[in-house]
Amino acid sequence: MLKQTIKNFVGRLFAGPARGPERISPEKHGIDKRKVSRHAVKVCEVLHNAGYEAYIVGGAVRDLIVGLQPKDFDVATNATPEQVRPLFRRARIIGRRFQLVHVVFGQEIIETSTFRAMANGDEFTDEHGRILRDNLFGSQEEDAARRDFTLNALYYDPIDEYVIDYHRGVADLKNRVVRMIGDPEARYREDPVRMLRAMRFAAKLDATIDPATAEPIQRMAGLIEHVPASRLFDETLKLLTCGHAMDCLRLLQKAGLHRGLIPLIDQVFAEEGGEEFVEFALARTDTRVRGGKTVSPSFLFAALLWKLVYRRWNELRASGEPASQALVQAADSVIEQQTRKLAIQRRFQADMREIWFMQARFERVNPRAIWRMLDQPRFRAAADFLQLRAEAKEVDSVQAQWWMDLANADDSTRAEMIESYQEQSRKSGATVATKRRRRPRKKRSADGASAHTDGGSGAQQASSGTHHDSAPQD
Ligand code: ATP
Ligand code: MG
Repeated sequence: MLKQTIKNFVGRLFAGPARGPERISPEKHGIDKRKVSRHAVKVCEVLHNAGYEAYIVGGAVRDLIVGLQPKDFDVATNATPEQVRPLFRRARIIGRRFQLVHVVFGQEIIETSTFRAMANGDEFTDEHGRILRDNLFGSQEEDAARRDFTLNALYYDPIDEYVIDYHRGVADLKNRVVRMIGDPEARYREDPVRMLRAMRFAAKLDATIDPATAEPIQRMAGLIEHVPASRLFDETLKLLTCGHAMDCLRLLQKAGLHRGLIPLIDQVFAEEGGEEFVEFALARTDTRVRGGKTVSPSFLFAALLWKLVYRRWNELRASGEPASQALVQAADSVIEQQTRKLAIQRRFQADMREIWFMQARFERVNPRAIWRMLDQPRFRAAADFLQLRAEAKEVDSVQAQWWMDLANADDSTRAEMIESYQEQSRKSGATVATKRRRRPRKKRSADGASAHTDGGSGAQQASSGTHHDSAPQD
């Protein structure tokens, strides 16, 4: 009896659909046609009229069914790239590993790919079983079987409005279950990135990962190390910008997957206020993403790693290093440590450094230098970062707001703001630095703000100074 149950279970894992695909009617799947890209519909229509099959596929169908606005639309067809391209005025064949067609409509690109066959064991793999090349055309059924999760293997025909479902993906989607198609372990071995994708879809859809799909992840987490760094970086960014970043991060940590991506996050969380800072940063990111705004990868990574940089910065200053040099050293050591695991592309590293370095310049500012700061391309991001630090009570929020207002102002308002700042500095007859020394005032220890301020030794406090003292409008 038990044997039979196991057999059925295993059979279900490997057999794929028992009785052909289900055709799900519009009333059942509930897709709102208004959310469907008219360009994607157009591509399907043109292909239909030329005698081919064509469907909207993948993430777009998944998002449409749960009522989200897809960020892009992909089409799958039985036409080959050479057959697709001449049907459209602006279309180009791209890709070396697997060719597909980009059909271009102004800003929107509809990625149109030919049904692909499932991995059959003949493909090239690396020594860990990771597939390096799979470029066989196939049937729709084969195409569905090589996709990762049941909820990503849905085909929507925008003309008859039915969804074709080979793996009961609509049911899984409605029940919010992320379930691997086929044997999870084998599929993770073929492509370890699927472990990250499982977490992302679980967080994004507020879904659970089916136990059989979840079980191998912890065991196989190490395979992530063999994935090329650029792909890992892209996937990590997708995780952090899916609108549910903190949930993703927690899932990654739980499975130990973060060790191959952002291993330093454990150390960051161990810092005083570290977890809270990351939470603030990711909450801001989520708000931007959900509001349809862009997110800068450099800002994100700068925020994730900041608390480590901040502590080292303070330690170095406490040992007598000048503030900006201390910050450069702190940044170098943290970036070096991070990139031992996941290489962050150089241009992002450069931007992260600029965002960090500007934090020292916000502190001790010579009024005349403000204009020079405004010329820095990352000034706005750095001011935004200062606001994040203010939210975490690390710097004064009035000061942070002044810089943000300055970033947002037009040139004449900027001139007024800077002039009144200069005026005040002149009146007080002091540089920022001397002002700091002169104002011992309130003892900092009891209130919430100061608890986060420097958190370190007296020497640290004296040397790092805080925002309160250097607020331009003081
Ligand atoms: P999103 O675009 O929201 O990140 P998505 O599901 O559309 O999510 P894409 O990377 O755009 O993700 O991939 C499109 C489709 O291709 C997926 O829905 C899935 O069917 C298939 N796919 C993508 N990556 C993999 C993978 N690593 N293994 C198997 N199938 C995949
Ligand atoms: Mg997509």
